[in-house]
Amino acid sequence: MRGVKFKDTKYLSNFFVDEIKVEPELVYINLHPNTGAPSEACVKVGDQVKIGSLIGKAKEGVSINVFSSVSGVVKEITEFDGKPYVIIQNDKKNTIKKLSPLKDFSKENLIKRIFDAGLFGLSGSGFPTHIKYKTDKKIDCLILNGCECENYLTCDDVLMKTKATEILIGGKLLASIFGLKTFFVGVLDNKKEAINILREAASKLEGAKAIIVKIKTRYPRGAEKLLIKHITKRVVPLGGLPADVGVIVNNVATAYAFYNAAINNLPLTDRYVCVSGLGVKKRGTTIVKNGTTILDLLEAFGNETYDTAELVEYSNTIRALRDEERATVDKNKKIELEKKIKLAVKKHNEAIKGEVSKIIIGGTMMGVTASSLLIPLGLRDGGVLFLTKNEYNESKPSNCINCKKCIAVCPVRIRPVDIAKSLEMGDFKTCKSLNPIACIACGCCSYVCPAKLNLKDQVVKAKRLK
Ligand code: SF4
Ligand code: SF4
Repeated sequence: MRGVKFKDTKYLSNFFVDEIKVEPELVYINLHPNTGAPSEACVKVGDQVKIGSLIGKAKEGVSINVFSSVSGVVKEITEFDGKPYVIIQNDKKNTIKKLSPLKDFSKENLIKRIFDAGLFGLSGSGFPTHIKYKTDKKIDCLILNGCECENYLTCDDVLMKTKATEILIGGKLLASIFGLKTFFVGVLDNKKEAINILREAASKLEGAKAIIVKIKTRYPRGAEKLLIKHITKRVVPLGGLPADVGVIVNNVATAYAFYNAAINNLPLTDRYVCVSGLGVKKRGTTIVKNGTTILDLLEAFGNETYDTAELVEYSNTIRALRDEERATVDKNKKIELEKKIKLAVKKHNEAIKGEVSKIIIGGTMMGVTASSLLIPLGLRDGGVLFLTKNEYNESKPSNCINCKKCIAVCPVRIRPVDIAKSLEMGDFKTCKSLNPIACIACGCCSYVCPAKLNLKDQVVKAKRLK
């Protein structure tokens, strides 16, 4: 069977940790977490804000509203890694500003509420949700994606176990936008408890029917196009969108966020996040405010053996080196700075003293490596992993041995090894003819490659060939 199967790592964090409350001193809120245009800061330094105050106003076109996740004072409006950020000092009073209540649940009002509340794809896509719902295509199927097939991640699993009714009411309202009375929730069969809880909640749902579809566990079964094919047998054309085959897919976390927006009048300011990996002492899933740093999470999860001041110092050094590296055009200087960054990251990770060899935001297959604990989490980030050497083996790449394992696992049936080789040889015509455009960047090819070649990055590069 295509795709890959992981050994179970989800047990490490697939429970809600009630006793852990993450209350950061400062939050760093990204005004451009979405695909499309950034929002425009609509606060200034010194302004008082509440949880739910609008701080970034959506621009025309594909853009979203952004809200404060804490109550307090705007401290700085700045840029990190080329993105606009608002930094807010948390007064920890947790005062809330709500959206005005919905007068009626008409199609227009529901789509406007999605936009007003700043909803976008929380599974990593970052696509503004209201744009999906403004389609003029005929939609006859809504699927809520609760597969969470990535290694380690448990944020959706825990959300489904604790907020099943709310997710289904959110799904019912989303379905009503297209006049649908039935919708699907796709869940992998490694989440038995969540499936039972959702089925129980579905049996009590009034006004619509939620069909909970149990799917055999395998990565990347939750990829949008594969999920659509599994549930509806429809095939989204290459370069096309689910709406082209009459389908809308939303993550279960987006449905829950919509429930909060439509019923509780709360804009999107926080999300479920899991902390996992054998490099931390406490693990689990909890609610995290937008803009909380990884360091705040680590402190809340009580890895008591590290020195915070030392970690902050390393993090600042890494950030300064990165800025320097970005600013220079001198090739040799870049190489020298890259070496320094590598060393600083190593020291930084050693200072966590939990034998952390890698910190990943997201899952091990599609997540990104965090080089410092001062990186803030956005609303697309469902987990932070502190991995030890035993969990994450970064061996050096060697030569391809022609085993063809990468071809056997590729869920979209392309030939990663041949794409990578033709790209390397500069034979772009052959490369494009091998269909890299179909790649969904799942990383299965790199995962199984015995030569440890980074095939995924190569195929993604090939995908961008003009
Ligand atoms: S899996 Fe790796 S070693 Fe095997 S054919 Fe593909 S690239 Fe070559
Ligand atoms: S080529 Fe793309 S879709 Fe195929 S296994 Fe590799 S990353 Fe996944």
